[in-house]
Amino acid sequence: MKRVTVLAGGVGGARFTRGLLAHLAVLAPDAAVTVIVNTGDDMWLDGLRICPDLDTVMYTLGGGINEEQGWGRPDETRRASAEIAAYGRGWSWFTLGDLDLATHIVRTDLLRNGSTLSQATEFLCRRWQPGVRLLPMSDQPVETHVCLAENIDEHTAGDYIHFEEWWVRYRARVTITGFKQQGLTDAVAAPGVLEAITEADLVVLPPSNPVVSVGTILAVPGVRQALRSTGARVVGVSPIIGGAAVRGMADTCLHTIGVETSALAVGLHYGARTNGGVLDAWLIDGTDAAALPTLAAAGIRSAAVPVWMTDLPATTAMAAAVLALAATA
Ligand code: GDP
Ligand code: CA
Repeated sequence: MKRVTVLAGGVGGARFTRGLLAHLAVLAPDAAVTVIVNTGDDMWLDGLRICPDLDTVMYTLGGGINEEQGWGRPDETRRASAEIAAYGRGWSWFTLGDLDLATHIVRTDLLRNGSTLSQATEFLCRRWQPGVRLLPMSDQPVETHVCLAENIDEHTAGDYIHFEEWWVRYRARVTITGFKQQGLTDAVAAPGVLEAITEADLVVLPPSNPVVSVGTILAVPGVRQALRSTGARVVGVSPIIGGAAVRGMADTCLHTIGVETSALAVGLHYGARTNGGVLDAWLIDGTDAAALPTLAAAGIRSAAVPVWMTDLPATTAMAAAVLALAATA
């Protein structure tokens, strides 16, 4: 197992990759891990380019994450955010901690001076040393927006608002009719992304949001085809346990695209590679073991083990189960 590539969102992808690295450190110390990160949650805020998922993965793997929140840095203040709010600018409900702001300032400076997002990410990682090659899915801005089904605050039904506004400001409690990835059709995969998939020994879809994290990466032109044609095994881990999204509101995203919130339905949504989909194998929780025969019948080799990322040992065991499943798929 030399080259492992992970297609990640924020918290779920970052925590899984931490377990994967811990497992590989023992089993295959010379393995190289590439993490391709969703950039659909990116936005401009207060004049700065914010990349929530890239930063969560970078901080988590670099030892700089606020563990309770899953985003931002520990021990940061909100003084700068409060000052911006005092001017009536920015999004009062989207807090940028003062230590995190430094990352956004440096990134924005690099972008303004002509760096691509890939180059800016590589630069930031020189400090954080995440132990993986961290690649944005694309260097072109792609932003996930949601279409509101009802009037709320200054918005009217039918308006599109940024995914983060729906997710953070409205806690995904406002009904939406769909998602639109602005900029996606003109976007190209960032340098190294398609090769990281086609030349890997193993590709993992970690327990990230299947709609707005993994789904957005899969929609980047060329990515789905790379997954379909790679010689690597493609193994996914269910972000759904016992019919619930574990943490966060992924169920509302699934509901919006007409997919049931279950480990089975998400596995079938990704689909078997032998049948037009992207998976060879799918790891689900023991509580969902009843889905195993249906998954097998659909051509997806599956196993049921604990998939709660409660701590590093549990997550490391999960990564070991992914490698074991890959070896048999
Ligand atoms: P985000 O960008 O920060 O929302 O993070 P991701 O898209 O990477 O992952 C979020 C998803 O991870 C959630 O929707 C959950 O379904 C899933 N998740 C979070 N914690 C766990 C866990 O402990 N186990 C499993 N299996 N899934 C989890
Ligand atoms: Ca995200």
